[in-house]
Amino acid sequence: MARFDTQIIHAGEPHPRIAGAVVTPIFQSSTFEHSGDTGYHDVRYIRLNNTPNHVALHAKLAAIEGGEDALVTASGMAAISTAILALAKTGDHLLVQSNLYGGTHSFVTQDLAALGITHDFIDADRPETWEALIRPNTRLIYVEAATNPLLQVGDHVAVAKLARARGLVSMIDNTFASPVLFRPLEHGFDLSLHSATKYLNGHTDIVAGAVIGSRALIAKVKHKLDHFGGALDPHACFLLMRGMKTLSLRVLRQSENALALARFLESHAAVSRVAYPGLESHPAHVRARSLFTGGFGGMFSFELRGGVDAAVRFISTARIPVSAPSLGGVETLMTRPVTTSHAGLSPSERAAAGISDALIRVSVGIEDVRDLIEDFAQALA
Ligand SMILES: *Cc1c(COP(=O)(O)O)cnc(C)c1O
Repeated sequence: MARFDTQIIHAGEPHPRIAGAVVTPIFQSSTFEHSGDTGYHDVRYIRLNNTPNHVALHAKLAAIEGGEDALVTASGMAAISTAILALAKTGDHLLVQSNLYGGTHSFVTQDLAALGITHDFIDADRPETWEALIRPNTRLIYVEAATNPLLQVGDHVAVAKLARARGLVSMIDNTFASPVLFRPLEHGFDLSLHSATKYLNGHTDIVAGAVIGSRALIAKVKHKLDHFGGALDPHACFLLMRGMKTLSLRVLRQSENALALARFLESHAAVSRVAYPGLESHPAHVRARSLFTGGFGGMFSFELRGGVDAAVRFISTARIPVSAPSLGGVETLMTRPVTTSHAGLSPSERAAAGISDALIRVSVGIEDVRDLIEDFAQALA
């Protein structure tokens, strides 16, 4: 079996190559001609996620995270909502990590609650507290590889172990780590989910999602996706496939840049706090070092001693980073979570999550880190 960096280039590409094309072409056709005696299951149609672009992408995604199968979706939220609804029904109960991605948090607390699917939040750092929350109707346990924006890395090994022992489905949102740093199925997770909008695509030009796991679980999720309709368009499939080929190069550079910037900020007198798992000062540093390979990712957050005013001035004075939400692209982006990803939480919920109004979140790009450090230095000055 070829190694990660070879798989990400070659896995899933059609053999023989279509008309000799080295790159899988875009099959922008909603439906496909019947070939002989075919039934409903042989119908090829974009909503059924089974056109040549989908098939190629599924094989590539499955190969790089060690899954039997994979499924791409119209967005990260389509992947998350469809996967959960494929595996939980009215009357079921879920264990979900606290401090979830905002969209997932709202989906669990509002939409699932309205469907009669209940939940308890778990502290991902304290596995000894989880067992007591399991009920006879508990179906699944859901966590994130690293949380937004403080980059907590929970006890993932304990999650997979508990799920195995108690017959729960374990699901992890692996968006922030990407398959370069973390491959959840190797650690016993049942399903790995992605907002492919972020690192997998990496170029800030599409919205997409992915689910990776066993053939049986992916078949269940696909069945629901066929009904809910959150299919990925072939053109977006093509862009995602193209973006993915440079995933390793990007994530390794982003991790190097993030570590250098985080170190620079940690030693700067105007900075009161830096949250990056690559720093020895981060509470999850040791765990991240044991779980992640190649680096600690491209995301970090920091606070200035000058509070909100200083944060607002910093964002408007820095020249290279773009002030925008989202993450994982080649360009450095900055945002204050209070105004974007966590605007939907109440001040007390934000305080409980350790997110101050002055916190700045950075998604580090692949620019020359010397320019980024110089730019951060002039903005701090
Ligand atoms: C962005 C994001 C999502 C949602 O993905 P979309 O592609 O925007 O639907 C889910 N989880 C995490 C961790 C994310 O960063």
